[in-house]
Amino acid sequence: MKSIIRLLLQIFPRPFLIRLSLLINRIIAVFLVGNKVECPVCGGKFRKFLPYGYTKATGRDNCLCPKCLSLERHRLMWLYLQNETDFFSKNLKVLHIAPEQCFFKKFRSLSNLDYTSGDLESPIADVHFDVQEIPFEENTFDVVICNHVLEHVDSDAKAMSELYRILKPEGFAILQVPMDTENPKTEEDPSVTDPKERERLYRQKDHVRLYGLDYSDRLQAAGFVVKASQYSKEFSEEQAARYRLPMNEIFYFNQKI
Ligand SMILES: [Zn+2]
Repeated sequence: MKSIIRLLLQIFPRPFLIRLSLLINRIIAVFLVGNKVECPVCGGKFRKFLPYGYTKATGRDNCLCPKCLSLERHRLMWLYLQNETDFFSKNLKVLHIAPEQCFFKKFRSLSNLDYTSGDLESPIADVHFDVQEIPFEENTFDVVICNHVLEHVDSDAKAMSELYRILKPEGFAILQVPMDTENPKTEEDPSVTDPKERERLYRQKDHVRLYGLDYSDRLQAAGFVVKASQYSKEFSEEQAARYRLPMNEIFYFNQKI
């Protein structure tokens, strides 16, 4: 499958392939039409979601929204923002780093948000930078969203202090990471540089650590006031199953007081 995708990428121009994938998604969405699962991000209702996962260990059924490509963790963040914050109503200056496809256009279209996207190199980002050295003045943003980035960064302490610096007082940051919730301690070793060994130890060949439950200590060390919750469990079993929420994910709401 991967080699077919690589071949297609070589033969056809990228804009054509993007249009093709959107068309394929629409066709798949028609086949999955139903009312058993619901995506709060795009409002789509389906018989089930699509399967997803890079490896056998992370592969799973019924998790990827065929319409907007949200996964469990995206739906959880959306619901948190909707139910627990004023993200969708208040005028806010937002920096979205490594913007997820399912959020990107929606956030940009919200008239209450002054929205900037950032990334190391993604062509869809407004500004390109390394998260360890963010080119904005301190106290600039009301909200910073930077999910699944810190596990790739050499110095997460430097990145966290940068994320804290650019946030306005009373602002908040969403900084979700992959985590081993069974391990109290983050596993990392800068001498491990072999991609296969990184994949074995940290789940992906470009990860430099696997966070444990001490993740909140690291955020606090950077200055954040951290509110950790198992937010999926605040929904009824029926609702959580309908949205297909990640039941073991710890959600971190990080404020600059
Ligand atoms: Zn969706």
